[in-house]
Amino acid sequence: MKSKELILMSYIDKKQISFKTILTALILFSSCSIYGQTDSTVKQLVPTPAPVPGKPMLIFVDAGHGGQDGATRGLFSKEKDVALMVALQLGQTIEKEIPNSKVMYTRTEDVFIPLYERIDMANRAHADLFISIHCNSMPASMRGRTNVTGVETIVSGSGRLGQQDVAIRENASILLEKDYKDKYEGYDPNDPESFIIMSLMKYAYRKQSIKLATLIQQQYIKTGRVDRGVKEQSLAVLAKAGMPAVLTEIGFISNPGEEEYINSAAGREEIVQNITSAIMEYNKEMIVN
Ligand SMILES: [Zn+2]
Repeated sequence: MKSKELILMSYIDKKQISFKTILTALILFSSCSIYGQTDSTVKQLVPTPAPVPGKPMLIFVDAGHGGQDGATRGLFSKEKDVALMVALQLGQTIEKEIPNSKVMYTRTEDVFIPLYERIDMANRAHADLFISIHCNSMPASMRGRTNVTGVETIVSGSGRLGQQDVAIRENASILLEKDYKDKYEGYDPNDPESFIIMSLMKYAYRKQSIKLATLIQQQYIKTGRVDRGVKEQSLAVLAKAGMPAVLTEIGFISNPGEEEYINSAAGREEIVQNITSAIMEYNKEMIVN
């Protein structure tokens, strides 16, 4: 049995999907023209949220916290304010430097927005990427807390992946409609058949999120930042993402040196350039692959 079929069979086994389902999925996968930026054999199978030529890339930029939620604070600044400044600057830079890109924000002022609402906004807009900006901090009670420095970027941990199903289905419906409706007359994304597609898309989003997170970290490192790596965590803001999504911690507000850096014009410019370059690199790799 070819490896392509093996993977399908393992999904089918688990869910006891009908023969009709198997057939539909096989037809879809074998004919699918948009392939995923993932590794191994699954790469060949996944209909991905890869950039569609001619379609503007919509990037949702999320400034963490806001309003009554000031989050962490340093000696002279609050995380919510730094996150907003960086998010706004990032949005402007993306639109200026990435051709055919459009940016939307979860907030452009000092207001509180619940975590789930943030990702819902991106899902409703069918965003191609979601990037959440935060500052890190060590607990006040920790000895030597002010010495800790560095950058890390987080993707949604597998514990929460189940919650992505609805969002992915909503977004995938549109994708499927646009790309498959004509070719596969009568295919209904709400049918059980779509289960396999959803599973593979979830896999693709996770892989792409890790890819983007890795590229962001690489850019940070190039400018001399301390690398704390890519992490998988169960984060409410990312849990329901129907697109590749990352949360990046741009520095420790609890470290006086990094607090200075993330509040300085030069520091912010560097961070914004790092993230923008990572998105450009991500796009390039998506198109090549
Ligand atoms: Zn935060």
